[in-house]
Amino acid sequence: MAVKFHSSQCRALAQKISEYLDGEVDLQTRRLIQRHLKDCLQCRTCLAMLQRSRELLRLLTQEQVPKTLRKKLEKLTASGRMTC
Ligand SMILES: [Zn+2]
Repeated sequence: MAVKFHSSQCRALAQKISEYLDGEVDLQTRRLIQRHLKDCLQCRTCLAMLQRSRELLRLLTQEQVPKTLRKKLEKLTASGRMTC
């Protein structure tokens, strides 16, 4: 039962997680996400991955980065979102 609960929750959360990282969700949604993250290792891992790739991307966009490398990182960020 717990697993089923999580899978539907995870899907809903995956759509919000990017906004959550940007701080664009309302307080209710934020609490919902935080509560879910506490219980769900899968989403915690996903969030950590997304966060890391975003940080990397932000760092690299501040420097002079070759376009090909930036493209690669953007792909990585997108795939991180997909694993949720
Ligand atoms: Zn989850």
